[in-house]
Amino acid sequence: CGIFAYLNYRVPRTRRDIFQTLIKGLQRLEYRGYDSAGVAVDGSGKDHAASISLYKKTGKVKALDEEIYKNNAIDFEAELDTHFGIAHTRWATHGEPSPVNSHPHRSDKNNEFVVIHNGIITNYKELRKYLVSKGYEFESETDTEVIPKLIKYLYDNRENEYVSFSTLVERVIKQLEGAFALVFKSIHFPGEAVATRSVRAMVSLKLTNEQEKNLLNRRGSTNALHSVHDRLAVEFYLASDASAIIEHTNKVIYLEDDDVAVVMEGKLYVHRIKRKAGEDPVRVIQTLQ
Ligand code: GLU
Repeated sequence: CGIFAYLNYRVPRTRRDIFQTLIKGLQRLEYRGYDSAGVAVDGSGKDHAASISLYKKTGKVKALDEEIYKNNAIDFEAELDTHFGIAHTRWATHGEPSPVNSHPHRSDKNNEFVVIHNGIITNYKELRKYLVSKGYEFESETDTEVIPKLIKYLYDNRENEYVSFSTLVERVIKQLEGAFALVFKSIHFPGEAVATRSVRAMVSLKLTNEQEKNLLNRRGSTNALHSVHDRLAVEFYLASDASAIIEHTNKVIYLEDDDVAVVMEGKLYVHRIKRKAGEDPVRVIQTLQ
């Protein structure tokens, strides 16, 4: 029922800050109603982006918050330069409220791909049957779980072709019927976020003084923009509701249906899947305006 995600790129944040940002984002969405909540963040190993940790809880966001804080295995003071975390409040449509039915949902026990979803996938039964026949094991009763399984299936069967995260997501949504807003995170694409449909993406910038000076001196030149981008330090927020992000910035981009938004290397791209003739397939959002 509510989606919130936060990506910091070259902006050092402690794990505590990251959890707090995610939890606060969810609390801003509480008024919409929900029965459970969950988050996915990078794991706590040395190479933090090589694994994903999931925390889920039935009931209030506060209960999820308390559960996270009493977890002794988490190093809350660890500082992460670049990180992407996703958070969800669920209003169950398929499968009772329970930890396993809560989001984020995962592709497999290694959490290679994790997804948060608002809405309903109406053709989930047929997709589930197909994926089960291919050996993918389901753990929940939700319609949502076909999505992480499907993206892993497409990733596993990519053969020798290089596929980007956004291409995989585009292929996934071609198979889905129903209503959905989705945010994806994956250990195969560290520091990269992909969001689609009615998720509202919002961008806020925190430039260093040097970056700002650079920008002021050479505004208008595309090269200057590129060189500033190269040293960009930036934070992105994705949310299903503007009320969750207004405290961070007023720079908000609303995605249209079938837009696929990708945050990569500190830049936001919006791919238009169903573009009209003459429209650019990719809108690169100039976050520096
Ligand atoms: N249909 C999904 C589920 O039951 C998502 C519900 C929601 O929008 O919160 O898990």
